[in-house]
Formats: sequence, C-alpha cells, structure tokens
Amino acid sequence: LEKVPADIIVARSQKPKPISLIGKEIGLLPSELEPYGDVKAKVSLDVLKRLAHRRDGKYIVVAGITPTPLGEGKSTTTIGLAQALGAHLGKPAFACVRQPSQGPTFGIKGGAAGGGYSQVIPMEEFNLHLTGDNHAVQAANNLLAAGLDARMFHESTQKDGPLFDRLVPKKGGKRTFAPIMFRRLKKLGIDKTNPDDLTDDEKSRFARLDIDPETITWHRVTDTNDRYLREITVGESPTEKGITRKTAFDIAVASECMAVLALAKDLKDMRERLGRMVVCSSRKGDPITADDLGFGGALAVLMKDAIKPNLMQTIEGTPVFVHAGPFANIAHGNSSILADRVALKLAGLEEGENDSSSGYVITEAGFGADIGMEKFANIKCRESGLVPDAVVLVATVRALKTHGGGPEVSPGKPLAEAYSQENLELLEAGARSNLVKHISNAKKYGLKVVVAINKFTTDTDAELELVRKIAMENGADEAVPANHWALGGAGATDLAQAVIRQLEGQKSNFKFLYDLQMPLVEKIETIAKEMYGASGIQLDALAEKQLAEYTRQGFGHLPICMAKTPLSLSHDPALKGAPTGFTVPIREAKLSAGAGFIYPQVGAISTMPGLSTRPGAFDIDLDEDGNVVGLA
Ligand code: ADP
Repeated sequence: LEKVPADIIVARSQKPKPISLIGKEIGLLPSELEPYGDVKAKVSLDVLKRLAHRRDGKYIVVAGITPTPLGEGKSTTTIGLAQALGAHLGKPAFACVRQPSQGPTFGIKGGAAGGGYSQVIPMEEFNLHLTGDNHAVQAANNLLAAGLDARMFHESTQKDGPLFDRLVPKKGGKRTFAPIMFRRLKKLGIDKTNPDDLTDDEKSRFARLDIDPETITWHRVTDTNDRYLREITVGESPTEKGITRKTAFDIAVASECMAVLALAKDLKDMRERLGRMVVCSSRKGDPITADDLGFGGALAVLMKDAIKPNLMQTIEGTPVFVHAGPFANIAHGNSSILADRVALKLAGLEEGENDSSSGYVITEAGFGADIGMEKFANIKCRESGLVPDAVVLVATVRALKTHGGGPEVSPGKPLAEAYSQENLELLEAGARSNLVKHISNAKKYGLKVVVAINKFTTDTDAELELVRKIAMENGADEAVPANHWALGGAGATDLAQAVIRQLEGQKSNFKFLYDLQMPLVEKIETIAKEMYGASGIQLDALAEKQLAEYTRQGFGHLPICMAKTPLSLSHDPALKGAPTGFTVPIREAKLSAGAGFIYPQVGAISTMPGLSTRPGAFDIDLDEDGNVVGLA
C-alpha cells in the first residue's frame, strides 16, 4: 500500500477509453456528444430536453472538514466514490468536479484531478486547457473591461450630440439602434424605436452613462499567478490623452463570468446573467451593467460553447463531468449546475422504474463544509431547484489531529511524529470539535450525512474506529473508512454501500438555511452563527453603507456568498477545532448581480495569487516523446 506511485504515473498507467465509448455507455446519442479529440468531449444541452421526463438520480455533495495543509482529499473521494458505485457496484454513477485554474497548476498546488488510484484521466488534459472554457471566460471578461474603459474615454472626449451620433451611426442613410440598445432605452423608460425621435435630453441620458471611475469593480483577468498585476495603471499611452486610472487583474476563475457559467440554467439564462452583471455606478449612484455598455450579447457569444459540460473519465473508466471552476471565496466554489443537471438526468429513472435502479451523481464543493456545502445549498441548489439527498463529509485522521491541537504543519517541513504515529488524544479532541460541528452543520440542511474517513497509510485501526465512533455518536448517519486513494473504487465500496443504504427508497428532506426575504444583514448573521459558531457579526461602516445601497438598488433579495478564510470555522485562520464566542468582522460587501449574490468580505481576500520562489512550473516539462512530466 505504501507503494502508490506519483499521481501522474498512476494516471498514465491506464489508457483511457475512447470518449465516444463513454458517451455510449452513459446513454448519450452520438449527436449529443461533441468530441474534442479522443479523450474529452462537450455534451450538448439538447440531452436535457430529450430526458426531461426522467426523475433525477440521487444527488450527493462531497464536502470536507476545515482544510489543513495536510489535505482532506475531497476530489480524491469524489472520484473514488464514483468509481466504487460505477465500476464495482454496477450503479450509473457520475462525478462532477470543477475545472482547475492554470494558476495553481503552475504555482503551489499542482493539479486537482484527485489522487492515487482515484483520478480523472488524462490528468494533463484535465489540468491544462481542457476544451478552452477558462479561456472563453477570460476573453469575455476582458472584452467587457475593454468596453468599459473605451466608453469612459469616448464619453470624456465627446460632447452629448456627437457621442449619440457615433453610438447610433447612420446606416444606409438612416440611424438605427443596435438591438441591445433597446434594453437600455427600456431601463430609461424611453419607448421610442426611431433614434431621430428622441429629444435632446433623452439622447443625452441614453448616450452618457456618466461612469463614476471610483465605483468600478470590474477587473481584467488572466489565468496566471501574476503578482505584478495586482495593482496597475491603465491608459498610459498618449493616444488615451492622459485618461489613466488605477485598476487590477484577478485570476481568471475569479471573474464573475465564471460564476455565471457555473450558475447558468441554460443559454438564455447565461445571456441574461451576463447582461445583468454590474461593473460600476453612474455618478448619480445607479448601477451600470454589461448590457448598458452594450456587451451582454457579445459576452454570451464568446461563452456559448463553454456552457456545455465537458465529459471525461476516471481511471476506472466511469464518467466524470468537469465544468466551471469559480473561486470558493468571492464566488461559490462549486462546479456547474448544468453538469449536475445533465448527470442527474443520465443517472435518472424512467417512468415506473424502481428507486433501486437509480443512478448517483457525486458533486464536489470547495473548501470546508462551512463554506462549500453552505454555498452549494443556499446558492447553487436554490438557483438550480435541484434537491440534494446527502452530504459525504470527508475527514482525515491527520487533519483532525491538527484540529485537536497538533503541532503546526508547514508545507515542505518534515511532519511531526503526532501525525505519523497513533495519537488518540489529539485525534479525539479534533474529531469532537471540528468534525462534530461540520456534522451538525450538514444536518441543518435536512440531509443524510455520511462521513468518509479518507485513509492514509499511517492511520491505525484504533484511530479509524475512534473517528467512526465519535461521528456516529454525534449525528452522522454513517461513518466509514475508505481506502480509494490506494485501491481505487475497490477501496470505497463500503462507503458506496453506506450511501446506497441511506438513500435507496428515501425521500430527501432538504431545506435551506435562510429565507431570501430576510434583510441582507440577517442573512449574513444567520450564516455566521449557524455555520461558523459565531456569537454575532460586526459590520464596518463601509459594509453597512454598501449593504444599504444594494438593498436600495433592489438587490436585497439575493443570497449571500461569504468570502471567508477556509482555514478555520471562524474568520481567524489560526483558530482550529470549533471555536466559539467570536464576532465575525464584515469589512466590505460586494455585488455579483449577474451571478446573483452579495459577497461580504470577512478579511483581506486575494484574487490574484503570486508565484513563489520555487513554483511548480519548475518541475513541468516535456519528455523525449512529447509527454507532459512533472504535473503533481
Ligand atoms: P482536496 O480536494 O480536499 O483539496 P485532493 O483530493 O485534491 O484534496 O487531495 C490532495 C492531495 O492529497 C492529492 O495530491 C492526493 O493525491 C493526496 N491524497 C488524497 N487522499 C490521500 C490518501 N488517502 N493518502 C495519500 N494521499 C492522499
């Protein structure tokens, strides 16, 4: 067991099946599969219409205890469980995972395809360009950024009359509005179709967005960890006539376009969300959207193929959907609604079929369950209307020891003995605090809770049993050690059977944590108290003002997407276990109107990672035969 080779070696040891065969095995029509080469394909959304009559398969979210540098293995467990259900227990089983960002792949984290004998293959395709969705997101985001700066430039260098004439130029001797402009006319309450009929005042209101540069929240993005783009000045060329401003780049997956991709219900919905994205306010304080700028349609065109889920396979030849990878702090950190919907239909039941024939969809939520599962439930499921059945909560003995007060772990430093030898005391303290809190959190959603104890070679039987016992005594429906990292699906059949036992013939009792009609502040307070264990929240004046403003602008009904450290249940990454009695400080609150949430910032959140002195990229190269080497 200790001889599991490096992830890329394991991944390469298995030749993938042709993707057309996977498509056939899961019941897709050839016309619904759009192969990109032999090992990956996009799936047409037409399948949703064809299978609309089916009852959905069982829907399971994989979440984790509070992450530590020792890793919990959520992706590995997502894949391992799907392999166990699909390749060993004969159930239709789909894993749905996020597409990783290129930034961490070349930075510190390496790939995110799972690990050991539970992986998505080919892992280099998975970790790098895949089918170009991240690039499409980047292109859309940056087109909007370019459009915003260009508009400010043109507005500041032209008077109202010429500005209107240039925005609505004559074609064939006649002025006509571009179709998207009718959205803005409607918003302004101008019910005219002929540009020449507008009064001078109407022309001016239409043409001049009067952007307040201080309110711009839209950044450019790139999918590289490029710390030197964290703060930049644009417009330095003399052609921009001195109209410079400070702005920034974010990593591409932090773009709101990515969150929109992940939350879109269909092409039309994606188009509308992209158009609704607010990029700044006017000097009067009115929100200005991508549609106001005239770009909503063009963004949708750039992302029209990205919306189709990508099909790949596990190392055991079971299907995996890889789709969208929104940040887990300023966005909701879950893969796409559409991938889950397609998978749930493919795993679903025809009229009259018995529940025991149901398939399983295992989708992963980023960070710890206090963040990933909370957002899965309150944002993703609320948007999709999909009803989850269970949470598989991943815990490891090593990580629980950290939560029980074990020595600090620093990446690159040798592990303290407490982690490689039996230590029931630390383990018990960690399990009774952190694990128990996450179990009770998951129960608040009315879901079945199955704890997956992701087994490391150093874990002893007594340790695994202790975690199992504590989980069972504290509300878990099942708690099962799983050895899928070392053994593939065969190592997770007990876990898979526990899931089946809990779900077969059962109806979900899923419920949300809060009502959307509650005021924004109360929603934030509910999450802080119920999920984090806080006594309350402390709003900075800025956050208070922003929340009041969003409510005034009509965004008070949106759900909350907390941007908090994943490293503690609290806002302080140093507090392990299950801290209590703390107050969560809310510094700022920002709006993602297209994605459809407000994100309060609990601390400084970096949206552009940097490269370390010794990044992962140093290991990555091509061998003599052109194979990628060195991806973690
Ligand atoms: P997460 O999704 O929680 O970030 P991953 O599943 O990506 O975690 O796993 C992180 C790393 O830990 C991967 O390199 C993976 O190979 C490794 N890993 C996961 N589970 C185990 C295990 N049981 N034993 C050894 N290594 C593991």
